[in-house]
Amino acid sequence: MNEEYRGVWVFIEETDGEIAGVSLELLGAGRNLANKLEVPLAGVLLGDGVKSLCSIVIEYGADEVYVIDDPVLKHYRTEPFMTGVNMLCQKYKPEIFLYGATPNGKDLASAVATDLSTGLTADTTMLDVDVEKRLLEASRPAFGGNIMATILCKKHKPQMATVRPKVMKALTREKGRTGKIIEESISLKEEEVRTKVLKIVRDVGKKVNLAEAHIIVAGGKGLGDEKGFQLIHELANVLGGTVGASRDVVEAGWISHDYQVGQTGETVTPKLYFAIGISGAIQHVVGMKNSEMIIAINKDPNAPIFDVATYGIVGDALEILPKLIELFRNTRN
Ligand code: FAD
Repeated sequence: MNEEYRGVWVFIEETDGEIAGVSLELLGAGRNLANKLEVPLAGVLLGDGVKSLCSIVIEYGADEVYVIDDPVLKHYRTEPFMTGVNMLCQKYKPEIFLYGATPNGKDLASAVATDLSTGLTADTTMLDVDVEKRLLEASRPAFGGNIMATILCKKHKPQMATVRPKVMKALTREKGRTGKIIEESISLKEEEVRTKVLKIVRDVGKKVNLAEAHIIVAGGKGLGDEKGFQLIHELANVLGGTVGASRDVVEAGWISHDYQVGQTGETVTPKLYFAIGISGAIQHVVGMKNSEMIIAINKDPNAPIFDVATYGIVGDALEILPKLIELFRNTRN
């Protein structure tokens, strides 16, 4: 029965007419899987007034787009989105279905998996496929990050995974690329939906945009205390960079979770990443290992952070940092 399932699908997340970056990244990853399996890659787009976005989905690598355009889908809510996606899955039977590991993506994927009685691998960091067995190989850190586990869903379809933003790479947009658009409708009416969006309140507070930062100066428990961590702020300041932190620093209350890099924080890809007094636990490394250049400072020459560092300085950060700050400050003036 599972043989009738064919094709790789990507859920396209949209807000206010804009496609989420992670959806485009997943089209890149999905293209690779679809090519290996020799099946089409499809985007699944639900929303209100979203038809015009189909061409963008195709230009980023999809062969097909399944679109449901209906006012009931104006704002994300579990019930109507799950109803629409499940209907599409039951009708067209994809073998693989990928979602961004965003709040909405995670919510939808878990609701869909439960309703379709299939499996879901959350927070995947690597995707591949066993072509012969047609099995998705979804890898993610497990057991506290001590091992990478490759998770298979052998008995149920579609095989589903959520993938964190900034882990996969989007393809270059191919303007004018053509594909098939399959329009479907949803039978659910607004009065049947149990949740209502009463008001949208936009968070206008100061946002830390780690994901877009070109330079990140990240500090860990090796800084000793909040006063030591202040040196991270100073170095970031003279370099025009953004502060980042390990989870232990966040848990110690030296800085808020908005600044945390890693598995349960942000995934970042800056041009330059300083890892200072950070040991290099796998949960931290998965969030920063794709940075263009990594400079690590650690007093332990065997610290795992040196395995991913481009340049390493072995020494006491509390002595090295004031000198670096001084040096960059003088260079700038
Ligand atoms: P430590 O491991 O204590 O390392 C401190 C380092 O500083 C050491 O290498 C030491 O040699 C060095 N050092 C000490 N003094 C100095 C000095 N004076 N100068 C220079 N170097 C010095 N962690 C994250 O960061 N991000 C995550 O998203 C995350 N998610 C997690 C999710 C799960 C499910 C779990 C189980 C863990 C997660 N962790 C995460 C925690 C992770 O496992 C580590 O505990 C954490 O990254 C360690 O933080 P650290 O490197 O700052 O501290």
